[in-house]
Order: sequence, then C-alpha cells, then structure tokens
Amino acid sequence: MPEKIVIIGSGPAGWTCALYAARANLHPLVYEGAISEENRLSGTLPLGQLNLTTEVENFPGFPQGILGPDLMMKMREQAEHFGTRIVTEDIADIDLSKRPFRLRDSAGNSLEAHTVVICTGASANYLGLESESKYKNMGVSACAVCDGALPRFRNQPLVVVGGGDSAAEEATYLTKFASVVHLVHRRDKLRASKVMADRALANPKIKPIWDSAVEEVIGNEEKGMTSAKVIHLKTGETHTLDATGMFVAIGHTPNTQFLRNQVATDEKGFVRLPDPFRTMTSVEGVFAAGDVADPIYKQAITAAGMGCKAALDAERWLAAKGIH
Ligand code: NAP
Repeated sequence: MPEKIVIIGSGPAGWTCALYAARANLHPLVYEGAISEENRLSGTLPLGQLNLTTEVENFPGFPQGILGPDLMMKMREQAEHFGTRIVTEDIADIDLSKRPFRLRDSAGNSLEAHTVVICTGASANYLGLESESKYKNMGVSACAVCDGALPRFRNQPLVVVGGGDSAAEEATYLTKFASVVHLVHRRDKLRASKVMADRALANPKIKPIWDSAVEEVIGNEEKGMTSAKVIHLKTGETHTLDATGMFVAIGHTPNTQFLRNQVATDEKGFVRLPDPFRTMTSVEGVFAAGDVADPIYKQAITAAGMGCKAALDAERWLAAKGIH
C-alpha cells in the first residue's frame, strides 16, 4: 500500500506537518534524516538547524526561552504521540514522474507515496576557499554550537565570518570559550537584527573587522588551522590574524539537490510555490514547507506555520482524489 503522506525533513516544518497529518488520521511517515558523518559535515543531521543552535527566544510559548535541541525534541515527541512513524534515514532518490511517487531511502528501502511534503530545510554555506576545505574539522566549522567547546578553541583567538544573525549569535556564543573573537564582515555594519547586533558589539571579547574578507586559512598538518589571512576590501591591504578556528556564518543553501530538478526551484535552489500563500509545488501532490521554500523569512515559527499549511493542503488534495 502506498503511504498517504511522506514528510521529508525533521525541522519545525516537518514536525508540525506530521502533527497535523497524524491528527487528521493520515498516518504520516517522517524521514527525519540519517545520522552520518556526511550529514554532520553538511549540517543536515536530524532535527534541522534549531538542533544546532542554543537559546531560542522568539518561539512563542516559551517566555523564558528554550534550547533549540529541546524545542525540536518536544516537537518530535508531540508528532510521535499522535501516531507519526519516523525513519532515521535520508531520502536518497525520488521519482515524481509516476503515481504514486516512488522513493528510495539511504538504507536502500523503496516505498511509494500519494503525497510528499518537502521540509528539508537549508544548510550552511562556506566561503569556497581551497584552504577552508583543507582545514574543515581541523579548525574550520560552520556550527559554533556543535564544535565551539572543542579543546582546540578554548582560550584561543577565533574568527567568525559574516554579518547576519547567525554570525552575531555564533560570535556571542564563542566568547564563552575563546580568548577573543574576530568578527570579519565584508561591510561596515552588521545586517543582524538590532538586538543581536547590539549584544554582539557590546561584548568586549568580540572585535569587529569591517570591510574585510578572509582570503586564506593558514595552518599545518600537525596543528590544523593557526591563522587567517584577511584582506581589507577597500584598501587591498592584507594582514594575518592568529586564530585556531574559523566559524563561517554566511547564510544557507536550500537542501533540494536530491529532487534532481523534478520540482521547480528558483535560481538559488529554493522550491518555488506558485501560489505564495499555499504550499503546492510545480508537481501536483508534492508540497513544500519551511526554509527549503522560504528565501525571505527563514524563521522557526514561519517554518512551523508552513508545515501546518502543507498538512492541510495535502489532506485536501488526498480528499479531492478520493484517497482519504
Ligand atoms: P543572512 O541573514 O543571509 O546573513 C548572511 C551574512 O553573510 C550577511 O551578512 C552576508 O553579507 C554575509 N555573506 C554572504 N555571503 C558571503 C560571502 N561569500 N563572504 C562573506 N560574507 C558573506 O544569514 P544568517 O545570518 O544565517 O540568517 C539567516 C536567517 O536566519 C535570517 O532570517 C535570520 O534572521 C535567521 N536567524 C535568526 C536567529 C535568531 O533569531 N536567533 C539566529 C540565526 C539566524 P552581506 O551583509 O554583505 O549580505
């Protein structure tokens, strides 16, 4: 029997979709993602980006704030409580040309589904320097919460690259461990929200380096990263900053590669929603919710709201087809 609804992804969009689908008796199956080294390095482990963050202060219902991983576990638990089934694998391949749709997971199992909801979120971008790849896992990271407490970063100077909320948050978090955090940004002001920018810039351990970019990560096999070569973008002058770590916080790319262009996306890979108020994609019966389809808001609460809409849209579609 084909599944009525398969939800791919396990951030706020995926779990909210599962919660609504389960309560509508659709018996949802969630592919929450595989626990693998590859997913760890690309930031696509189960429970999404909130699982890689610290305090979440802007999700309603938690006046004292809540830790990102705790919030995600609660969402998972709530969806499971109403009968959601969960598989801890990725969807490795999907064929949307036939109905029901055909899917294959990373363990090699095949399944069929009448509807699919894409909630695969987005993962961290890197600068794209050769030297950056060389020192990944040896100083270079895109996740302060995952790696910041490692011994190599303790009481050492560190670099954070970026000027958004992520960069402000990562820099602030890293001050718990670092001797100093150099915040390298290509402009002369942060684009982070005022509260987060003010908090970061008021921190005496954070030293902004404006109008600048990291040109090279320097290190050796034995010690890993030891410094970063930084260029001032207006004068062209370069200097070297001692640092045992560089945390890249320059935005995210939507996780849509596995769809192999079967669903329309924009030029950056975000799933296109032909009607921006709905969650239908270019393929009938395929819906999308959360950061994977949201180049604008990218918030936990908007992702959760979209997950709810996707479940309702899928339920109505199944009902119209006489499947539910
Ligand atoms: P973002 O807002 O897109 O900011 C990315 C930053 O990286 C920008 O400052 C950008 O510079 C810089 N950048 C991009 N490409 C670069 C490159 N190749 N080299 C150097 N710098 C580069 O991304 P984000 O900070 O990850 O935030 C994404 C979304 O998540 C936002 O909506 C944010 O509000 C949200 N968020 C919220 C929280 C929270 O509320 N707790 C925490 C984290 C993120 P320019 O400024 O020059 O464009």
